[in-house]
Amino acid sequence: MEKRIDVGVLGATGMVGQQFIRLLENHPWFRLTWLGASDRSAGKRYKEATNWRLDGEMPAGVADLVVRECKPDAETPPIVFSATDASVATEIEQAFANAGHWVISNSRNHRMDLDVPLLVAEINAEHLRVLPTQQRLRGWTGGIVTNPNCSTIGLVMGLAPLRQFGIRKVVVATMQAVSGAGYPGVPSMDILGNVVPYIGGEEEKMQTETQKILGNFDADRIAPMAANVSAHCNRVPAIDGHTVVASVELETKPGVEGLKKAMAEFSGRPQELKLPFAPKQPLVVTDAPDRPQTRRDALAGNGMTVTVGRVRECTVFDYKFTALVHNTIRGAAGAAILNAELLLEEGYVQR
Ligand code: NAP
Repeated sequence: MEKRIDVGVLGATGMVGQQFIRLLENHPWFRLTWLGASDRSAGKRYKEATNWRLDGEMPAGVADLVVRECKPDAETPPIVFSATDASVATEIEQAFANAGHWVISNSRNHRMDLDVPLLVAEINAEHLRVLPTQQRLRGWTGGIVTNPNCSTIGLVMGLAPLRQFGIRKVVVATMQAVSGAGYPGVPSMDILGNVVPYIGGEEEKMQTETQKILGNFDADRIAPMAANVSAHCNRVPAIDGHTVVASVELETKPGVEGLKKAMAEFSGRPQELKLPFAPKQPLVVTDAPDRPQTRRDALAGNGMTVTVGRVRECTVFDYKFTALVHNTIRGAAGAAILNAELLLEEGYVQR
């Protein structure tokens, strides 16, 4: 007998939507039954509506599902993952939450709302405690939980183990892959053999999202981390995998070896609960002088592990390091699936 929970994907035809489809195939807890996209795709079978861009074949189980408009209907499952275009995500996600569904979103629209968790399952699971406030304030029986921007997550995974040493200041620069811009994204004439030192809105997102994620849950609100974060964001001709290089100033100085130990030992609720999408090690620390590299390391832990390398002293701040995150897996669809698993296991969503 089928014991899995039905789930849906909003924005199922896009770059992140396709990762959801791929990652949900054979998921032990979730069964994908419902797909939504724009009115350009609605009414078509998934295989007709979608230009499949990922390696391997489109999973057979979804090929003939009919894509719907992104409106809740009688068949919408209790959990929907959202990968809709940010220009429409606000109203769409609210409509689903209002209709009693749990929206696990990748879009930026609700990330900074005070009553919405910006969840990285290993780092701030306690921020889920704001959900009753969200439901009360908005009169919802469902809710919205977001995951961060794809480059923010690489940074916060590197910083989370350092909270115990008191983070004072962070300066970070990114080298972000083209798949982070969706499809067709950055024109090839703009990015081949080139680096573009601007990604609209990205630096502000990295700064404020990092402070919220690393903040504390206090009474009924999330108090952002006080430390200043300054980001430089760049688009580079890599396909998948965002690289972040960061310098940090800390209150106490654990030394390079102490820092590496804290990073290598870092884990959280997903590992305790042995959630299906939890990587054994959320952070892997490499001593190789020329790693992490996008092509070699982005798929560590099936794309759910962040690889940190080049941990060393900084002559301006205290320490610096490089972190690599797979932007459409740990930075988007995989992170959202892990968040949904945590919501279920922690009892926020009934099975
Ligand atoms: P994308 O490839 O451009 O896909 C956008 C999706 O939104 C498509 O399924 C599209 O459907 C749908 N859509 C567009 N207009 C719509 C409308 N009016 N109503 C309903 N659906 C509509 O973008 P993406 O890269 O997958 O990103 C999706 C979201 O995730 C964005 O909010 C993005 O910021 C966020 N995100 C992306 C990444 C990344 O690495 N790419 C990482 C983290 C977060 P049609 O095919 O029918 O047009």
